[in-house]
Amino acid sequence: MIFIDIDTQRDFMNEDGALYVPGATTVRDNIERLLRAATERGIATISTRCAHDFDDDEFEIFPPHCIKGTPGAERIFPDLPALPRREISADTQAEPGATIETGTHYVIDKKVFDPFSNAWLDGLREDGSFRQKECILFGVATDYCVIAGGLGLVKGGAGVLVVEDAIRGVAPETTEAAIEQLRASGVDFISTANLLARLRSE
Ligand SMILES: [Zn+2]
Repeated sequence: MIFIDIDTQRDFMNEDGALYVPGATTVRDNIERLLRAATERGIATISTRCAHDFDDDEFEIFPPHCIKGTPGAERIFPDLPALPRREISADTQAEPGATIETGTHYVIDKKVFDPFSNAWLDGLREDGSFRQKECILFGVATDYCVIAGGLGLVKGGAGVLVVEDAIRGVAPETTEAAIEQLRASGVDFISTANLLARLRSE
């Protein structure tokens, strides 16, 4: 099992953030529960992170956000999961033979919304690291990075389970469409409580 924690950064998750995702504060506690469960159980966790420069192309589509080195770019739970951490910068190249180790926290920087725009992460996928793995997906925003991550994981052969009360989207229509598209791709949904109960019973 791999946890995929998408862009839980201050600029998206805090009401005063540069690109606040409406309602994101309501899923904050569930995200914390999930990251604590990953700590307790040593579940490999991949946290993606927007890491922008001032002149990034993405700012032609979205307002500036998550500028590298600013408080807005920090993860809301910077110390969770409390597992050995490996940080992968946005320009890291694919690393042949790299694997996802149990009990490790990977922090993956990216410059566009698709998590697999990071060549290192894409290389893992190309190598089959996600094939037949159960990936537990949560974070923001459902209609941009979460759906891109979910579809990208499906493409890599993963079984994807989205934590329905630990995601939020930017706009209602696009969020609904994203959830429909994920379902149509074979992605399943579960609540935080049910997932944690399942982990406790395993
Ligand atoms: Zn971004």
